[in-house]
Amino acid sequence: MAASLRLLGAASGLRYWSRRLRPAAGSFAAVCSRSVASKTPVGFIGLGNMGNPMAKNLMKHGYPLIIYDVFPDACKEFQDAGEQVVSSPADVAEKADRIITMLPTSINAIEAYSGANGILKKVKKGSLLIDSSTIDPAVSKELAKEVEKMGAVFMDAPVSGGVGAARSGNLTFMVGGVEDEFAAAQELLGCMGSNVVYCGAVGTGQAAKICNNMLLAISMIGTAETMNLGIRLGLDPKLLAKILNMSSGRCWSSDTYNPVPGVMDGVPSANNYQGGFGTTLMAKDLGLAQDSATSTKTPLPIPLTLAHLLSIGGSQFPPPDSSACARELERRSQRVKNP
Ligand code: NAD
Repeated sequence: MAASLRLLGAASGLRYWSRRLRPAAGSFAAVCSRSVASKTPVGFIGLGNMGNPMAKNLMKHGYPLIIYDVFPDACKEFQDAGEQVVSSPADVAEKADRIITMLPTSINAIEAYSGANGILKKVKKGSLLIDSSTIDPAVSKELAKEVEKMGAVFMDAPVSGGVGAARSGNLTFMVGGVEDEFAAAQELLGCMGSNVVYCGAVGTGQAAKICNNMLLAISMIGTAETMNLGIRLGLDPKLLAKILNMSSGRCWSSDTYNPVPGVMDGVPSANNYQGGFGTTLMAKDLGLAQDSATSTKTPLPIPLTLAHLLSIGGSQFPPPDSSACARELERRSQRVKNP
């Protein structure tokens, strides 16, 4: 099975990233015996741009944490705050019966679950494992099967909202898994998000997330192209954004995360495109959309073009926020004489 997971990982957009159920009949009693409402320690694996503020919100709600990240510096401030840092996902599973993973790609999730020191090595019967990473729905389904064999429960719960919503506890969670377990997941996810939506069987949370991010990529690049054209036509960018936001062109990319520097404060475009949602992650999500379209024979012509534009930012380190597509368009425009 580990081989089949590795194969799925390879086919699911991982090429864009280099750095790094139902319970089985016999396990149902164990699942029910989990202490659902108590503030027992919660495991958290992956403390990057999103995982860091999400874990802090669990702390604010009084949950002690057992944490792990392959990048030790990511754990430091949690250790300083008195949380328990361990040295592998298996150690997290030994100490916590509810675990949240927030990792970049399918391959990282496979490693954290099924790797040599993965969660599955020491997972306790009845544990609830929630993966909030954005990964291939087929990988989520395979992981769920493996988790089920160990008498535990897996749910996919990817998020939307970005770093700002992660900080303020206003994420949207799209949850796939056994409906009977949704309330148990909601108890934790509700500490980090204002919308926790049950989507259906395992993998449906990822399906919803992939569709959302495909539309986000389209609207982000659409906003960048629109702003670039308007600026070259002599419009003041702030004024153009104001008009779009009171007109039918308005979208999240224009009114909350405008990609053009100088239009808004507190967004990556105001900070040289640092932080936020990296271009490599967005390109990965477009790869997931493309793979899903191929497997369902769904025509999807636009995302391929977008993936190309985003791959330019992905060659920089650290990768800029995905709204840096506006900077790329501006650079290309400079090569063309303004009429
Ligand atoms: P990130 O790269 O900032 O953080 C990921 C963390 O996981 C890093 O600290 C890394 O060291 C750690 N990690 C990687 N592999 C690991 C492993 N095997 N075991 C333990 N730790 C490991 O990524 P992020 O921006 O926090 O995104 C995480 C996920 O959330 C991605 O799937 C992304 O697509 C999704 N997402 C991100 C945003 C955003 O705005 N950044 C928004 C919505 C969804």
